[in-house]
Amino acid sequence: MSQIKILLKQHIGAPCAAVVALGDKVKKGTLIAQPTGLGANIFSSVYGEVAEVNENYILINADETQPDEYEPITGETTLELIKNAGIVGMGGAGFPTAVKLNANLNDGYILVNAAECEPGLLHNIHQLETQTDKTVRGVKYCMEVAGATKAVFAIKAKNEKAVKAVKEAIKNEPSMSVFLMPDIYPMGEERAVVRECLGILLEPTQLPSAANAVVINAETVLRVAEAVEDKKPCFSKNVTVTGKVNNPTIFTDVAVGTPVSELIEAAGGLCDGVIGEIVMGGPFTGKSMADVNDPITKTTGGIIPTIEFPDLHGANIGILVCACGGSEARMREICEKMNAKVVSVQRCKQAMEIKGALKCENPGNCPGQAQKCIAMKKDGAEYIIIGNCSDCSNTVMGSAPKMGLKIFHQTDHLMRSIHHPLYRKLRVSKKIEQ
Ligand code: SF4
Repeated sequence: MSQIKILLKQHIGAPCAAVVALGDKVKKGTLIAQPTGLGANIFSSVYGEVAEVNENYILINADETQPDEYEPITGETTLELIKNAGIVGMGGAGFPTAVKLNANLNDGYILVNAAECEPGLLHNIHQLETQTDKTVRGVKYCMEVAGATKAVFAIKAKNEKAVKAVKEAIKNEPSMSVFLMPDIYPMGEERAVVRECLGILLEPTQLPSAANAVVINAETVLRVAEAVEDKKPCFSKNVTVTGKVNNPTIFTDVAVGTPVSELIEAAGGLCDGVIGEIVMGGPFTGKSMADVNDPITKTTGGIIPTIEFPDLHGANIGILVCACGGSEARMREICEKMNAKVVSVQRCKQAMEIKGALKCENPGNCPGQAQKCIAMKKDGAEYIIIGNCSDCSNTVMGSAPKMGLKIFHQTDHLMRSIHHPLYRKLRVSKKIEQ
């Protein structure tokens, strides 16, 4: 590692303001930027010297030797420690954790989101298997701060080793339990977690607090335990690097600001052959990277180089957008990369626009897609590309082929790259024996 770039916006809210200047010496854990509104503290993840400060990032030339020690945070209360550590939702949302936990639940729930719903990503499950006790302690701190009296770990039943480890770790914790989730997308959506664990279907505009619950990602819980017990600032991230690399790897405690190219090299480098794109994030909600030297942030979960795209030679294509998958812009980008001409854009009827973002009325329960397929056919589509959840992909398959439409899913090139079945026909049961 020679130079790291730490972004000033790694969370929901306004960018932070730098509190260091060119030439300053920094250590691991030195506070380098503070919130200007909703946000979270940002720390240096290395020993080094500040090489550039601008409105978007702070560049640090890292020293050759990097001791493990870091500057500890201070705080009088558990909530203060979480706030001062700069923890945000590390599952991708980036919402400041201290704000989320300051919930005053009344006999409510902490729901630990360990669904790790994006296919191919494995670092949350790896954490549950290897850092089980610390994760459980993190949940206790979250319960204390939020005023929750119960906690539920939401884990997909297929992750048997993690389920066993958590059940063993909480066997003497009567206030904690495990809820087994089916292996369908998007079980990790916040309201899906509430619905599955508590049997309450929230409106798309409602937050989990309406169900007397806080949903918190598994890695976020671990960072809470680090802040409280080790006084460690949040400057590292667990990341899965998979797809077209020679040695797919789960990296733990990657220094925030590390260039993605460095992780790809550490995962054995790119496989031979043409790379379609490099996706940062998961297959459904990740984004194509413009620059492989872009940095890891507090919310980066996956790095996935892919196989090349098929060439549709300018054929007409229709897009069916889902609330829980790629945006229309992302799907248009994929169509362009497949050399297809977009002639129709439809939206799943459960995808509602709320404050500029799409939200699903009932994530993962298909309302039927035949009408949307008919509309795309009418508009002249020969192919369709769908971004739908498992259940809706299944129903598309029940109607579109009968109309002569050829089907792609926006994740196809990623699924082929990680050797995962394509999203077409659902073969898992929605009901799991608890
Ligand atoms: S029901 Fe529609 S909007 Fe909701 S997750 Fe499925 S495809 Fe997406």
